[in-house]
Amino acid sequence: MNFTEKARKHIDSCRFCWMCRHICPIGNATGQERNNARARALCLSLVMRGAEKPEAVAENVYECALCSACVKECATGWDPVYFILEARKELATEGKLPSYIEKMLDNYEKSGCVYSAAEENVSLTEAKKRHSIKTDTLFLLSHAAIYRDCADTVKSIELLEKTGIKFTVAENEPSSGADIRFLIGDTGETQEAARNCAKLLNEYKTVIFLNPDDAEIVVREYKEWGTEVNAKLVTFTSFIAANLDKLKVKNKGVAIAPQDPFALGRELNETEPLRKIAAAAGKVTEMLNNRKDTFIAGSAIMAEYMPEVMKAVALRRFGDAAAAGAEVMLTCSPSEHAVVKDVAFDGVKALSVAELLLE
Ligand code: SF4
Ligand code: SF4
Repeated sequence: MNFTEKARKHIDSCRFCWMCRHICPIGNATGQERNNARARALCLSLVMRGAEKPEAVAENVYECALCSACVKECATGWDPVYFILEARKELATEGKLPSYIEKMLDNYEKSGCVYSAAEENVSLTEAKKRHSIKTDTLFLLSHAAIYRDCADTVKSIELLEKTGIKFTVAENEPSSGADIRFLIGDTGETQEAARNCAKLLNEYKTVIFLNPDDAEIVVREYKEWGTEVNAKLVTFTSFIAANLDKLKVKNKGVAIAPQDPFALGRELNETEPLRKIAAAAGKVTEMLNNRKDTFIAGSAIMAEYMPEVMKAVALRRFGDAAAAGAEVMLTCSPSEHAVVKDVAFDGVKALSVAELLLE
């Protein structure tokens, strides 16, 4: 693997450090030493020094959620997400990817979507048809929402309709690049996906992102790649929070724990709209590790190749919600909702923003 000087420095700094080992949601879910930032760095340092083959560490490289919990925790400013993304790019370049990642890339090449058997649900097609006419506002759903959290995506469209805004949903939505970046890092393919998506976004005055992962990549990465987006960019959560008065929400007093997706809590520093929504429908109760300290509750793309670990990740987050006395864990990420919706936990139910407000 041809790591850059910067990645080498970060790998060598992390490989003997234990300071963030307690913070990795994957390591906490599996209980395995291999699943923390330090272990990933140690594996990659062995490859860097020629003591191990790249394919021997490839699976470990894909067991990282890129959630940046370790980056936030690091007092000395080292960045495991940086070198993990570079390792994924190198594995792709060298043709040493795990077979399940190859399969997702094949899907992407054939259909523009990394998810297998990616057929859209009829109810979603119907909901999209209601918004096929061009308006000033695009509602960008994301492939995770369309293909892995379909029923809830229909509800999100219904909720947006209730605000009275006129909006468009693209018939064939392109990837924002977030999923392909997750798989192979900052490559030419990822930047091409970004340019392709930007063409669509620039046809509108406003873009509302259902998936925080899309909002994050467009706001933070597109500029780095020289891809300009001139539309006003708004998350679904912040749009709904700003329009609560139109939704006539009844407060039932239920204890609600907001689950901050890391893309909002850490990367975009957007945490209060979700709490405003929760406060309108019930009473907010905070989980341990909230806002910028959040832990993931799941990841749709990782559930494709490590579903049991994602289930364990979700259960731990349900446990945090229960410990905070919550009856509801409120999610605003289709990628997380796609996982938590299928996990049962006594006493706490997971609801999306649309489920909570339409209930
Ligand atoms: S990110 Fe910081 S705290 Fe974590 S292993 Fe690296 S140097 Fe240590
Ligand atoms: S980015 Fe997240 S999943 Fe990856 S090593 Fe850091 S804490 Fe663990």
